[in-house]
Amino acid sequence: MAVETRAMATGSLTIDLDALVRNWTALDRVSGAGVESGAVVKADGYGLGAAQVARALAQAGARRFFVAAAEEGAAIRQALGRGPEIFVFSGHMAGDADMIGDLELIPMLNSVEQLTRHMETLPGHRFGIQLDTGMNRLGMEPAEWVAVSDIALQASPALIMSHLACADEPGSAMNATQLKVFRELTDGCGVPRSLAATGGILLGTEYHFDITRPGVGLYGGQPFNRAQAVVHLSLPVIQIREIEPGESVGYGCTWTVDETCTIATVAAGYADGLIRAMGNRGHMFHEGVPCPIVGRVSMDLITVDISHLSTRPLALDILGKDQSVDDVAAAAGTIGYEILTSLGARYKRRYTGGGVA
Ligand SMILES: *Cc1c(COP(=O)(O)O)cnc(C)c1O
Repeated sequence: MAVETRAMATGSLTIDLDALVRNWTALDRVSGAGVESGAVVKADGYGLGAAQVARALAQAGARRFFVAAAEEGAAIRQALGRGPEIFVFSGHMAGDADMIGDLELIPMLNSVEQLTRHMETLPGHRFGIQLDTGMNRLGMEPAEWVAVSDIALQASPALIMSHLACADEPGSAMNATQLKVFRELTDGCGVPRSLAATGGILLGTEYHFDITRPGVGLYGGQPFNRAQAVVHLSLPVIQIREIEPGESVGYGCTWTVDETCTIATVAAGYADGLIRAMGNRGHMFHEGVPCPIVGRVSMDLITVDISHLSTRPLALDILGKDQSVDDVAAAAGTIGYEILTSLGARYKRRYTGGGVA
């Protein structure tokens, strides 16, 4: 027999803006005096709501924000108004000149082609330069930079940056190699420089330069292991049922019981970012007690073994003080970044702290 517990359709995602600000402040302290901490708010603030996140961080003193695309920059400008600097990692893409110009975005130019486009379409408008120091993903190659650096430096870039490929592995030789290349390409250029994201901040002062670009650590993720939890996700239990020995649970009958069990069905699934790989591997929590996810994760539903609980919970927690985004990621075979940015649109997002009523 299955029992309906209550009629609430979606999970409740609570975002603790005070914890976010404390994480920013803690990373800022690691960088120390003379280094300014920016904030990376791409991908809708790592899935948590870019406008709310950016406002809370601006109130805490952040003045430089980084996004992936000009459209994201437009949303941040709308949230913050004039004043804070907004840098766009993808640079100056064709068709973006009006948005970049009108909203005073600062494109990080990634190629000679982008530099040319920028100088032709928006002469005199601020820009930065992104250099590729070995990741081979985005930015001017060293030879390309050497060819155009005189022209670019004459136009006084707002920032020169590069990105580390292995900053979350402090022992990787790649870090020192990229640092050396970055120094060779930029020492004495007289322009503010930035190399470190969250991982780079933790590598040490020689990686900090003038401006840091923390992202995931602000949102409570590794490699910042002192990060406080920012996201709390609680999922309503829709039904609870007893199942008998020999019965199975979910698609494909991948979990079969040999004793009587109590199964709670919660209202969230892989369409809400609780990825399918967590089936038969992850856990949810009831007042701190772990309850295993059993059977496959469906699109909108997850089944959890609550046989050992003495009460019938109205909701189960999956993210928060009991379990971090990285714990969930480990159970799902991915990284905290992917769990955060996959959190779906169906949750009610509720914000606490950060001066938000
Ligand atoms: C995403 C990103 C960051 C932030 O990285 P975290 O690891 O989340 O701190 C910084 N710089 C660039 C270029 C990025 O793409």
